[in-house]
Amino acid sequence: MSDVRTTCAYCGVGCGIIATPDGSGGAVIVGDAKHPANFGRLCTKGTTLGHTLSLEDRLLNPMIGGVQATWNEATDLVAKKFKETIEEHGPDSVAFYVSGQLLTEDYYVANKLMKGFIGSANIDTNSRLCMASSVAGHKRAFGTDTVPGTYADLDEADLIVLVGSNLAWCHPVLHQRIIAAQEQRGLKIVNIDPRRTATSDMADMHLGIAPGGDVALFNGLLKYLGDAGKIDAEYIAKHVNGFADAMAAVTPYSLGHVSSLTGLTPQELEEFYCTYAKTERVVTIYSQGVNQASDGTDKVNAIINCHLATGRIGGAGQGPFSVTGQPNAMGGREVGGLANMLAAHLDIENPDHRDMVQDFWNSPTLPTQAGLKAVDMFKACASGKIKALWVMCTNPAVSMPRADDVAAAIEVVDFVVVSDIVEETDTTVLADVLLPAAGWGEKDGTVTNSERRISRQRAFLPLPEQARPDWKIICDVAKKMGWGADFSYQGPHEIFKEWASQTYLSVLAGKDLDLTALSEISVDRYEGLEPVQWPVRPDGGDTRFFENGGFFTSDAKARMLAVHAQANSAICDLKYPYILNTGRVRDHWHTLTRTAKSAVLSQHISEPFLQINAADAADIGVETADLVQVNSPYGTAVLRAQVSDRQQVGQVFAPLHWTGQFSAKGRIDVVVPDLVDPVSGQPELKRTAVGISKF
Ligand code: SF4
Repeated sequence: MSDVRTTCAYCGVGCGIIATPDGSGGAVIVGDAKHPANFGRLCTKGTTLGHTLSLEDRLLNPMIGGVQATWNEATDLVAKKFKETIEEHGPDSVAFYVSGQLLTEDYYVANKLMKGFIGSANIDTNSRLCMASSVAGHKRAFGTDTVPGTYADLDEADLIVLVGSNLAWCHPVLHQRIIAAQEQRGLKIVNIDPRRTATSDMADMHLGIAPGGDVALFNGLLKYLGDAGKIDAEYIAKHVNGFADAMAAVTPYSLGHVSSLTGLTPQELEEFYCTYAKTERVVTIYSQGVNQASDGTDKVNAIINCHLATGRIGGAGQGPFSVTGQPNAMGGREVGGLANMLAAHLDIENPDHRDMVQDFWNSPTLPTQAGLKAVDMFKACASGKIKALWVMCTNPAVSMPRADDVAAAIEVVDFVVVSDIVEETDTTVLADVLLPAAGWGEKDGTVTNSERRISRQRAFLPLPEQARPDWKIICDVAKKMGWGADFSYQGPHEIFKEWASQTYLSVLAGKDLDLTALSEISVDRYEGLEPVQWPVRPDGGDTRFFENGGFFTSDAKARMLAVHAQANSAICDLKYPYILNTGRVRDHWHTLTRTAKSAVLSQHISEPFLQINAADAADIGVETADLVQVNSPYGTAVLRAQVSDRQQVGQVFAPLHWTGQFSAKGRIDVVVPDLVDPVSGQPELKRTAVGISKF
């Protein structure tokens, strides 16, 4: 096989890749110079994708109760058990927990099966842990989950504010892009993060904010902008509601007050505020440090408020910009993969929207209210409410907060199905039925990156043994549940075509998500589909939103929100005196199932660690390389101490990646509480009060 143009398996930058199969199961990987997300650049994870293609550790056959089975036996059993459970206990007794690593076509049929045919909204995704607060913040401000800008804005901005984002490690190619602009034309970068990271090192200004100080910081900025006469009164009069209330809410946020809430000096605040106030072209990039918080949605709206108040949104080089963690978190939220959304950005609470979706699918039913979000879904497993669970393409026994309790909750469920590419994970060992899924390089479909750009993932390797694409596994089960005619797709092209047609409903409802130009897409055009942003315009067109208003609310105006700084969710005391922050490292991904296969990637960091300030390390009596025990009321992890001045006193950091397979006590999410944002349902993964002792 010759070169195949595809898309990286990892982060939401969505880099284009050219894969050249080597004929023995591997491939040579280079960046795709024609892809507008990366123009040929790749980071270490993308470059080494060819190292991760071996079949070692792969789940290659269906398994029932630990015994190899045929596909027919496995899908018969899954369909029978789900049908019996629904008949006996109702549709809300079953649940799907899916993943931002699924392709859009997989996500689409999973959502269609659960919401349109089973009749429950109990489908949620690990994207709930990634960007649900951005979705909720967008909906509150814009009326829809719309990312206003594009990557091209990074090339046009004069100031980039990076909030809660270690872009250099987590979205490296975007970081390379802004560093090039910094070097070539003096773009200024401000990084707001409690830790000093690789991103902070390259920034013009690093603000080492106290954990959870973001609402106070941006409320203070809004007040400063008002006092400095930088409000765009004309834009607000035409396009924004809620301005007066939002300004009233920020009245108390003087420099002194914000300083007391953020730990930043008044001088630091004034320098940042002044830089923001005098720069017209500002992009605020935010990521998990904003979203993964019990006030994550308020943080998002505090950021958006500043852009709306100054009219700095939708123009070249202007706007708030949420960058997603996973390769297809965006595609999932587009097709309704969250428990509180319908496909095409329609609202589950809206009866007109429900009718439109049900008519489109000609489906027997549709839920009338939101389903269980991730944390609540596993609580419902523990309480016995969920009696059949299907986990697709993710490892919640490692990645969910209170991970030990989540593993125990899955064990309570009567019937557990896991589709995965890996045979043994902390979650697959809990399953009654294992279904072997196709992996990256073996499956075909589309993903959407952080700038709304749809790209093809293309197969360049044969399906190994009995592995099947996720869309096919889901459709095979749906057929056996009695809905054969509605899930009779011959391939991902037919699913994509139906999905693109369904976005007509978004247009009809006055929403943003328009792929209708692709609704008659031929097989050949789908095969050769070039990366394309939505809204998809026949002429290419301008893909930014909101320069001239046009928000997706009833009066086409955006909403500024009056938001308030909350008391710290992590209460430190003598037993738990440190604040734990969790996150990624540069060369690993999620729960290591792919990146641990590359020796090159493991050279960077090969074991779990706890980064700790020298003063705290001295108090505890530990040095770099000592083992330390991290405790909370929910669990214990044992990690290698890494003494570093990158941490502030009283704060520690641990990576999220390590699983029971790689490090018996390295699972840091066992200590994290399941506190969630009340609006978005996203868990607080960035602020946990912990105790630390030498092991
Ligand atoms: Fe892949 Fe993200 Fe790296 Fe691009 S930046 S190569 S999408 S991991």
